[in-house]
Amino acid sequence: MRDFVYNAHPARVIFGSGTLARLPEEVERLGLSRVLVVATPEQEADARRIAGRIGERAAGVFAGARMHTPTDVTARAMEVVTAERIDGLVAVGGGSTTGLAKAIALRTDLPQIVAPTTYAGSEMTPILGETENGRKVTKSDPRILPEVVIYDVDLTLTLPVLMSVTSGMNAIAHAVEALYAREANPIISMMAERAVASLARALPVIHERPDDREARSDALFGAWLCGVCLGSVGMALHHKICHTLGGTYNLPHAETHTAVLPHAIAYNAGAAPEAMQALRRALATDDPAGATFDLAERLGATMALSSFKLPEKAVDEVPDLVLANPYWNPAPLDRAALRTLVADAFAGRRPSAD
Ligand code: NAD
Repeated sequence: MRDFVYNAHPARVIFGSGTLARLPEEVERLGLSRVLVVATPEQEADARRIAGRIGERAAGVFAGARMHTPTDVTARAMEVVTAERIDGLVAVGGGSTTGLAKAIALRTDLPQIVAPTTYAGSEMTPILGETENGRKVTKSDPRILPEVVIYDVDLTLTLPVLMSVTSGMNAIAHAVEALYAREANPIISMMAERAVASLARALPVIHERPDDREARSDALFGAWLCGVCLGSVGMALHHKICHTLGGTYNLPHAETHTAVLPHAIAYNAGAAPEAMQALRRALATDDPAGATFDLAERLGATMALSSFKLPEKAVDEVPDLVLANPYWNPAPLDRAALRTLVADAFAGRRPSAD
């Protein structure tokens, strides 16, 4: 075995079905008496119901969370935090909601209890991407990491099928890049392989039966492990391309990850043999890039970035943006090869095995 460094992030995790019933206990355990529940406008009703469960320890609901954590939204939430003398945060939602709780925690160091409702994995990372004046800036800080995460499978039953598929592919992307990360280590690789297998098994079942609790449980467990992968080791070309597409062209987060991932796997396949072995086992295939594409496409995901109104000039611009500020990547970054990758994802072409 090669030498390695493993960084574990401390968090208390409660996993299961109906686990949100333990929220009042957790609020009490942290000694909180004036909690703010945060959510997106779409999940405001859930947030109000959850605040009701906390009872008199709930001091308010802020249902203004938005994708990519705009700082003006955080500023409005901070006014509530100050006015209501908030001493703790409960986030119920996907990565956007978790992002808002993290942004408040970065400014206040308030403790966070997060109940994820998608597979994005943000709850497991000390990372925050904030948007100010259209520019997304990524920060890492121990204050950002949530203290308690309550995974309640029941909260994911309402996640629409297509969002479940793309959010699941977004999670798989974290595990894939962890397998070939510069800091890859046996603990994270074990989690990554297990996570990919769990999600690849669960997503087709969810596609058929969105309320299948066993499959939902498998997917959420996989998503948790993928979140650990994302928070523990550096991400590579796939995440760099997706951050560029999201930040510069405002493409949707999970959908972009879904369309780009097969091409990133194909790009890195030759340079990351051990990672590809793990993916072959997890996906039960000889061709991880093609299998990832087929899985997402079969489950109804849009595989052509052009469908998200990405301008065609991005095929030339993205490689330049990636090369201007590159992430470490197992395969060397070559402009012509990057252009081919982006052109294939733009057109929604299936990567070919070679
Ligand atoms: P999201 O949080 O934006 O959710 C998308 C929509 O689905 C929202 O309207 C939300 O209210 C709704 N929704 C979520 N769960 C639902 C459910 N169970 N039932 C019904 N509706 C539901 O989407 P996301 O993909 O989870 O998060 C994307 C954001 O998270 C991006 O801004 C991304 O940058 C960020 N993110 C950050 C990290 C990190 O570590 N910092 C990791 C992953 C994602």
